[in-house]
Amino acid sequence: MIVYKFGGASIATPERMQALLPIIKEAQHEVVVVVSAMGKTTNELEEIVQAACNNKAHAHELAHALESKHLDYASQILSPENYSEAKQILAPFFTELQWAIDDADRARFDYSYDQIVCIGELLSTRIFSLFLAQENLINTWIDARALIRTDDTWRDARVDVAFTTAQVKVQLTPLLGSGQRVITQGFIGATDNNQSVTLGREGSDYTAALLASMLGATSVSIWKDVSGLRNADPKLFPDTVQIPDITYHEVIEMAYYGAQVIHPKTIKPLHNAGIPLYVKCFLDRTERGTIIHANDTQIAYPPIIVWKREQVLLQVTTLDFSFITEDALSFLYDTFARLKVRVNMIQNAAISFIACLDNRPEKIEAVIKALSPTYKIRRNEDVSLLTIRHYTPEILFGMTMNKTILLEQKTRNTVQVVMM
Ligand code: ASP
Ligand code: MG
Repeated sequence: MIVYKFGGASIATPERMQALLPIIKEAQHEVVVVVSAMGKTTNELEEIVQAACNNKAHAHELAHALESKHLDYASQILSPENYSEAKQILAPFFTELQWAIDDADRARFDYSYDQIVCIGELLSTRIFSLFLAQENLINTWIDARALIRTDDTWRDARVDVAFTTAQVKVQLTPLLGSGQRVITQGFIGATDNNQSVTLGREGSDYTAALLASMLGATSVSIWKDVSGLRNADPKLFPDTVQIPDITYHEVIEMAYYGAQVIHPKTIKPLHNAGIPLYVKCFLDRTERGTIIHANDTQIAYPPIIVWKREQVLLQVTTLDFSFITEDALSFLYDTFARLKVRVNMIQNAAISFIACLDNRPEKIEAVIKALSPTYKIRRNEDVSLLTIRHYTPEILFGMTMNKTILLEQKTRNTVQVVMM
């Protein structure tokens, strides 16, 4: 039993989807295929969410364009008969999208986001499943919302592992045993009220890892448009190098600091179950790619650079000059935890506390509201957080020389800088 995950780039066009056939054919029959939304669909859906909260007519226009795009894609890859079947199969999702737009509301932004954004994966997997069937690759399409049960932390839902494992055993194991491939969505799930949720951007990797650990898979392969993990994002830096082998630990650190390579929650289930993760290139399936595993004997890493943008630095100072004691710290942490705000870096001094947070305006507002009775708050927007693992002084200097450094922290292995 193996798990394959295909990201948005691998199915961005009908030609790309077509080109995945040999990969699926060569895989053993017992395979769970986890698929993202096509190309940049999730970004487009995010725009629809914004519009749905401001201007519903515009949101419906955008939704209509998204619908045409998917139908056009399906018509290119499916025979006329299969295409007319696809139109019927996809119609309920377009309706679901219309309803979610009508129901969307700024006061419940994150909730509305999940109801709208989940549609991308539902559409892409349906089309993919029909295409594979057309090519005689027998498969069963599963709505991941019937498998992945979560809480209602919208846009970052926490999976109920016990419940989900039971569902996976009941629904997937028999199918795989009878030689059916399973096609399902990454990134989405549902609460016990059947409300859709998402697991955080790039969450399909996490879905693949969860399903693999629950099914006892022998490996997970993530198929990307690059030939493996690199030491920095090639879209941001010119001279990157490939990393052929890397430990779970190193990858979890990279992802945690914001590398967009793999969803941060992906590694834990794989590590706990001892399942290796292959990062492979769908453009050349013969390339070895990167292997992520437990064995850390003598891997010499290059400096690994993660640049996380859209950050906000909050400086919180006591109004009455009282110290930031352990009690105050525990209140501050408790506030972040209660408001489900992710803190990327912190530092405290006598009467102030500094936190670097993802720029999620509604969450930042909630934090400010909760803290302002006791603290004066200053914020710097548009800052970025640079993390370098295995850094050298030269690399650090090169990357920060023309910037204003607002905060810097170093350990033996890692340096982090908040800068603008
Ligand atoms: N489609 C989602 C995203 O773009 C999830 C994923 O690709 O993993 O973030
Ligand atoms: Mg993706």
